[in-house]
Amino acid sequence: MPELPAAARPSAVPRRRALLLGAAAGAAPGLAPGTARSASRRAARSVDGRRVAVIGAGVGGLTVAHELAERGFAVAVYERRAVPGGKARSLYVPHTGTGGRRDLPGEHGHRGVFGFYHNLPDTLRRIPLPGGQSVHSRLTPVRWVELARVTGRPDLPVPVDRWVPSSLSDVNLLISSLAGLLQEGVRLPPWEALFFAKQAVMLLTSCTERRFGQWEYVRWWDFIRADGMSEDYQKFLGGGVQLLQALRAPVASTRTCGQGMESILYDLAGRGSDTGGPFDRVFDAPTSEAWLDPWAAHLRALGVRFAFGRSVERLDLRGGRIASATARTVYGTTERIDADWFVVALPADRAVRLWNPALRSADPRLAAMDGLRHTWCSGIQYYLREQAPGIRGHVVHVDSPWKLASIAQSRVWSAPFARTWGDGRVRESLSVVISEWETPGILYGKPARRCTRAEVAREVWAQMKAHLADHAPLDDALLETWYLDEAITEDGSGGLRDDDPFLMNTAGSWDLRPEATTAVPNLFLAADHVRTYSNIDFASMETANEAGRRAAGAILAAAGGTGGGGGAEVRTFRGYEAPEFAAARALDRQRWRQGLRHVLDIG
Ligand SMILES: Cc1cc2nc3c(=O)[nH]c(=O)nc-3n(C[C@H](O)[C@H](O)[C@H](O)COP(=O)(O)OP(=O)(O)OC[C@H]3O[C@@H](n4cnc5c(N)ncnc54)[C@H](O)[C@@H]3O)c2cc1C
Repeated sequence: MPELPAAARPSAVPRRRALLLGAAAGAAPGLAPGTARSASRRAARSVDGRRVAVIGAGVGGLTVAHELAERGFAVAVYERRAVPGGKARSLYVPHTGTGGRRDLPGEHGHRGVFGFYHNLPDTLRRIPLPGGQSVHSRLTPVRWVELARVTGRPDLPVPVDRWVPSSLSDVNLLISSLAGLLQEGVRLPPWEALFFAKQAVMLLTSCTERRFGQWEYVRWWDFIRADGMSEDYQKFLGGGVQLLQALRAPVASTRTCGQGMESILYDLAGRGSDTGGPFDRVFDAPTSEAWLDPWAAHLRALGVRFAFGRSVERLDLRGGRIASATARTVYGTTERIDADWFVVALPADRAVRLWNPALRSADPRLAAMDGLRHTWCSGIQYYLREQAPGIRGHVVHVDSPWKLASIAQSRVWSAPFARTWGDGRVRESLSVVISEWETPGILYGKPARRCTRAEVAREVWAQMKAHLADHAPLDDALLETWYLDEAITEDGSGGLRDDDPFLMNTAGSWDLRPEATTAVPNLFLAADHVRTYSNIDFASMETANEAGRRAAGAILAAAGGTGGGGGAEVRTFRGYEAPEFAAARALDRQRWRQGLRHVLDIG
């Protein structure tokens, strides 16, 4: 095994971050140290009753800022990092760009803006680009998902254009088409394929009450009876193929996985898709460059102020309302944040740190969030001197113990790689997401959590090579360097820690999730753990976006429509429901009310 050359470790203040913090001292991108207070004062002078402090600049926080700034509110966003975007942001390898090129970019693997998203695409359409287009125009389809197997097992290239029959009116036809696909394509034993297809149709025809009252509490793994099935059934249908990170089959609720499956199926049947195109779409450049940086620039143009390098540590409840918040700066000083409305747009594991005893007793739903569970899910980039040969799009490494999924970015990014990023020698960023951190790997026999960063890099490379050996062998000589997400750091005792874990939509977790509104009248929540109702609700950018819309709508209503921008209602966009199943769902609703099982719930 060759020694993999490691990219420069993140310095204390990476260059991109330093640039943003530095620029803050001037006019634009962020607030210089010590200016958050003056921003608040400026806001206080001009917009009494309409000052909003958004804590967290992820998709949820930026969405609230967008909706409210358009309606005349004075919004300030406080973010612990130096850049916006949270989990969606691109990762840059510090000090790797030379000769006017940008630092080497990376992503958390595949960053899909799927065709069944409707709220997020609306936001993308409202972020203008020079030349009259919008950020939405930078989405590009990924037409193939390659289900790669280790040597000896046939790979399965899957086109992600429509291949589900568009006629859904015949349930028998749907069951036999799905079963046929699983039998022919994935080569599952016929009865396993048929059983899964029957369960899938049961979900599609379940009424909403049953989804929330029954399927929410059943693990997907149990619902599809994965325990007694073949290894391939477990891998393909029980979570080995991790297309959507939130859908963790062994622990996720059937309602959640069913929602994902249903959305993908309808999309593949050409139903209810955002643009009518393939369901799998990514940006044609690093996410920060294509979307998040233009978004932040647009928000600034709308008057939003950003205070980067501010980690909010405390919310002060006085007289039943949030009176102020306190942030710690990167320089170790504290700052007081005054506002009329506070939006906590933080991941659940961070938000609960702000729930002090007074807040917990004011709103027990906030305390319930302690029960939400998180997992590790992070990206690693391999920078290659040539394009990865034979990789067309999104690759799922089906047999990898660490549940790897990768994408060759040069195939989807429109700019010429070597001329745009790095030192001119790199032509490919192979971006990989590691979804499983508890299972031993093939090289060291250790789970990812117990490895060093360098061991993770070697292990992931080995697992990918084992999958691509048949048709697209990875050559060690192509590898220039690698870069593992900076949130993964060594813990000093031979293992790793993760500073940015990811929410799991475990069975029953809906009960623990908060609404966008709280019992404290000027406190709102906007992140991917917040309950959403119009489209999907599993942890994703679409959910964070809808949560942001809900928080903004609630503030607008609570403020009495006082936004100077006209105060138009904040819209949310519904997901697709097949009319052909309406009658079956109505029948199921009757059965649910009578305490009966679904008609297909026959074992
Ligand atoms: C590896 C991976 C791949 C994914 N792929 C996809 C995908 O393909 N498609 C998709 O739709 N979704 C995907 N997701 C999920 C998606 O990225 C998230 O659900 C979404 O970005 C969450 O947005 P958020 O605003 O809720 O939270 P976050 O993105 O976590 O944003 C919260 C922000 O708050 C900041 N913050 C934290 N604590 C503080 C504090 N105390 N004070 C101030 N600021 C603070 C953080 O730095 C961060 O910027 C993926 C997630 C992961 C981990």
